[in-house]
Amino acid sequence: MKRYSAFAVAREALRNHTGWERAWASPEPKKKYDVIIVGAGGHGLATAYYLGKNFGITNVAVLEKGWLGGGNTGRNTTIIRSNYLQDASAAIYEKARSLYETMSQDLNYNVMFSPRGVMMLAQTQAEVRGFERTAHANALQGVKTEYIGPERVKQLVPIINISGPRYPVLGAIWQARAGTARHDAVAWGYARACSDMGMHIIQKCEVIGIEQSGGKVTGVNTTRGPIGCDKLGVVVAGHSGNLADMAGFRLPIESVSLQALVSEPIKPCMDVVVMANTVHGYMSQSDKGEMVIGGGTDGYNNYTQRGAFHHIEETVRALVETFPMISRLKMLRQWGGIVDVTGDRSPILSKTPVENMFVNCGWGTGGFKAIPGSGWGFAELMAKGHSPLTEAFGLNRFYEGRFVDESVAAGVAH
Ligand SMILES: Cc1cc2nc3c(=O)[nH]c(=O)nc-3n(C[C@H](O)[C@H](O)[C@H](O)COP(=O)(O)OP(=O)(O)OC[C@H]3O[C@@H](n4cnc5c(N)ncnc54)[C@H](O)[C@@H]3O)c2cc1C
Repeated sequence: MKRYSAFAVAREALRNHTGWERAWASPEPKKKYDVIIVGAGGHGLATAYYLGKNFGITNVAVLEKGWLGGGNTGRNTTIIRSNYLQDASAAIYEKARSLYETMSQDLNYNVMFSPRGVMMLAQTQAEVRGFERTAHANALQGVKTEYIGPERVKQLVPIINISGPRYPVLGAIWQARAGTARHDAVAWGYARACSDMGMHIIQKCEVIGIEQSGGKVTGVNTTRGPIGCDKLGVVVAGHSGNLADMAGFRLPIESVSLQALVSEPIKPCMDVVVMANTVHGYMSQSDKGEMVIGGGTDGYNNYTQRGAFHHIEETVRALVETFPMISRLKMLRQWGGIVDVTGDRSPILSKTPVENMFVNCGWGTGGFKAIPGSGWGFAELMAKGHSPLTEAFGLNRFYEGRFVDESVAAGVAH
């Protein structure tokens, strides 16, 4: 595949953009692959990419029931940070954050990583104590964060009201090299690189059954016929429970819709990401000028990918005290994605009761930031049978009571 470069842009400008190639191929499925990955979201595509790049495994198919990046990967609010409390989480999220720093160069695809800084507000004494503790833990883990006071918050975010009547801003945990990236571009960049390595990305191909023989996976049944494989990676976020069901086991996961909305575009007014966990909302400004606002999950399990009116009201009502200026904004769009939530709010990257079948799920409301780290670790797990990055996130932790409890760090998550 031809490399993208400033020279290529200039060349194509001179010949009416007639020389661009398709970014990825759309081949017919083969009868059998060494590895099948189900789900062409960020995590599935990153897994395929690192299987090829780090382990030379390229006889790989990524099967997607819709279009690539059309799940949560293309629906999130793109926040990237690694200020988690537990060592295992900090390790995988910081690996991911550091891979984001060089992802555009690595994939030769501009993913618009913008390390503009992420701030999580402390608006109760409990949050002050919690975030100070996280900042200390991060220092020991080698993750660069700091606990800052309200004056510094105001300096970094002039539009914020730090003396709100109900929840004044008491401080914040601040990660200066955290930020955002263009979510579709992450999926497209990985897809292009996988296709370039000869992997097959097959869209509109839904997996409807999992074939086994003697307790070992042998392939999948799809809407485009049966396809064999030696190893199977299931990376389908909110549909993980359904795929586990097809293979005959249960996952400790609940699926629920998480919602977000954007305002009309306005002039630049906030150049960092702010999360307000107590009132439950978070906000950043996109390059187009829209305020990107994240809300909460529905209070009941469901598989809808729609927005709901009460979420606009609840989320904006929560944020308006801290950001009074948003009361005058019109909201343009809202949407939902089906997220997969575990009891300890940590992901599952694991072998399963079916030999050679692996699952990568449970990223819940906050897995966009983890995509490269998750793909890196899960590829290693699938290729070698173990990975230091994924060790703590096995299914056995639910039987052994060894939770990786991130319910505080991931209460709002993102
Ligand atoms: C509104 C919202 C805001 C969010 N904000 C953030 C944020 O700011 N920061 C952050 O870090 N995270 C955020 N997240 C979470 C993040 O988006 C997800 O954790 C992450 O995108 C999950 O990626 P994935 O690749 O696992 O899943 P997905 O991108 O959902 O990909 C799974 C794919 O599997 C496919 N699939 C399902 N079943 C089958 C089948 N049977 N056969 C074939 N294919 C199948 C689906 O079509 C889908 O494309 C947010 C999520 C939402 C919904």
